[in-house]
Amino acid sequence: MRASWKQPFQYPRPSEVIDHKANEPVKEKGAGGKSKQRARHTTRTLKQIGVYLSLYRLKLMAVLAMVVLSSAFSLLGPFLAGTAIDRFLISQDSGFLWFLVAMAAVFVLQSLTSWLQSVWMIGISQQTVYRMRKQLFDHLHRLPIPYFGKRQHGELMSRVTNDIENISSSLNSSVIQVFSSVLLLAGTIAVMLWLSPLLTLITFTVVPLMAIGMKWITNRTGKLFKEQQRNLGQLNGFVEETLSGQRIVKVFSKEQSVIEEFRAHNERIRLSGFWAQTISGFVPKLMNVLNNLSFAVIAGVGAILALNDQITVGVIVIFAEYSRQFTRPLNDLANQWNTLLSAVAGAERVFDVLGEREEQSDEGEAAAVEALRGDVVFQNVSFAYEGREATISDVSLKVSSGETVAIIGPTGAGKSTLIQLLCRFYDPSSGVILIDGKDSRRIRRESLRAHMAFVLQEPFLFEGTIRENIRYGKLDASDDEVERAARLANAHAFIVRMKGGYDARLRMDGTGISQGQKQLLAIARAVLANPSILVLDEATSSIDTVTEIKIQEALQRLMQNRTSFVIAHRLNTIRGADQIVVLQDGAVIEQGTHRELTARNGYYSNMTDRQDMMP
Ligand code: ATP
Repeated sequence: MRASWKQPFQYPRPSEVIDHKANEPVKEKGAGGKSKQRARHTTRTLKQIGVYLSLYRLKLMAVLAMVVLSSAFSLLGPFLAGTAIDRFLISQDSGFLWFLVAMAAVFVLQSLTSWLQSVWMIGISQQTVYRMRKQLFDHLHRLPIPYFGKRQHGELMSRVTNDIENISSSLNSSVIQVFSSVLLLAGTIAVMLWLSPLLTLITFTVVPLMAIGMKWITNRTGKLFKEQQRNLGQLNGFVEETLSGQRIVKVFSKEQSVIEEFRAHNERIRLSGFWAQTISGFVPKLMNVLNNLSFAVIAGVGAILALNDQITVGVIVIFAEYSRQFTRPLNDLANQWNTLLSAVAGAERVFDVLGEREEQSDEGEAAAVEALRGDVVFQNVSFAYEGREATISDVSLKVSSGETVAIIGPTGAGKSTLIQLLCRFYDPSSGVILIDGKDSRRIRRESLRAHMAFVLQEPFLFEGTIRENIRYGKLDASDDEVERAARLANAHAFIVRMKGGYDARLRMDGTGISQGQKQLLAIARAVLANPSILVLDEATSSIDTVTEIKIQEALQRLMQNRTSFVIAHRLNTIRGADQIVVLQDGAVIEQGTHRELTARNGYYSNMTDRQDMMP
């Protein structure tokens, strides 16, 4: 695979496929120490979510007030019903109508407050995830290139979409539910104790059963939900990869194996989804049984107590209703707990990305440059990719402003890496690169790249018109400037022949336009950018002779009077270069002009003798 600046969307090397586990939240591994570690992680993530939520403090307080009110009304409803039985059915008091009105008001208010709490909370959660999504996307664009080399695009996409969506739905409902469940639970227990401590105690006999049942279920579903989320992320990555690499898949007739692999991913999601949902679906059933059990106990014991005049019939009704209300929040807690856990895990993944160092954060004393002459010196530059042996070893090279350097060498020699060092996608492990006499690390990356332009083998086209694609080289260019650049790049003629001309729309994968035309557009883009330093990766694919001549002509024009680094494959280009650098295994093995190198009888002259290059 080529380095990432060349082909933004491509197959990752197997070694580059993300280790998903590395970014997973710490897992519970049984005993003591580990579970503490997980709690610490969760607390940190919750705190981070809290920072976002703190922006909506007032609204949140209003939501909390509504939660408190609606819980209070929920408690009041059954209480009034029980009181009604005692006062109006048993004692035959007057004023039943007013009592009914009051009860109706309580039920209406209960619905109103719970509706308000959810509407306001939805507002808060949508605003929060809107900010998170925006920050995440902005941040992704400020991360250094090596970060993307180590991760699948789809997996990152899954964080922007799935994980954020999880946070959103959890904030929408789970947070409120958990909070109101706790409140309701506390309130119910308090009122029950006040009415009859004895009956409360008896009602509570089912609690240990519930607690054991729920623990058993959440232990299993928690892991399964997490696994389902991870599997979904992997599937996303896989789909994104195979769709953007469709051509490769087809060319290598890999459809069947890709389908097979997809089937395996799909199966994993099916299994984890099935078990997570089946087991968690068991919660309401279990609760139901326990609920009925507790109802029976209350009715039986309550009747005995009532016969002994220890409580009234109304209290039995209140208890029966409360016991239902009491298991419901427990039930909700069990249900929402998993959703909350998976949202926290999602949030953790989002904050992981947000916590990554931005490319610009290590700029230190680097400053912006207004203009560049284009003098470039590599002084004993060495470089190794993370965890690898040196890819560039002690390269020294001096290029004066306006010169053309042809970099040649066998595949894997380090040509692209050398260019990536020049544009500061990576910095040298040792040695320095001087640009206009200044250490390149002292020049801000953005500013340095603003003076550079790239014409790559596989030019990257965006979804948009031809004009927009060319204008990418200089965003404020006028239509006239765009057209002038296209003329200089020999692209004008083919553009006007297209339906829609400069406004013809291009697809991201570049279908409907030839390889040669893509290159002409890339050249037009570079002409418009008018860079001091040009990087050109010559295409190896053969293009029809007429277009080839047009490309060569346009490139000659483009390279004039600017420092050009060409990863060269064509003998013509190499011959015309001011100096030729031959790289092998990351080291410069020959350096000089065409004439000097042919005289030397080394790698270069051998290569040209074999004539295995394009003319
Ligand atoms: P080609 O002509 O095939 O494009 P090249 O001369 O441009 O090859 P580079 O792409 O610079 O070679 O790669 C040089 C070495 O560095 C290769 O061994 C390659 O596997 C390795 N390499 C390239 N990019 C990375 C990366 N992002 N992480 C780790 N190793 C890399």
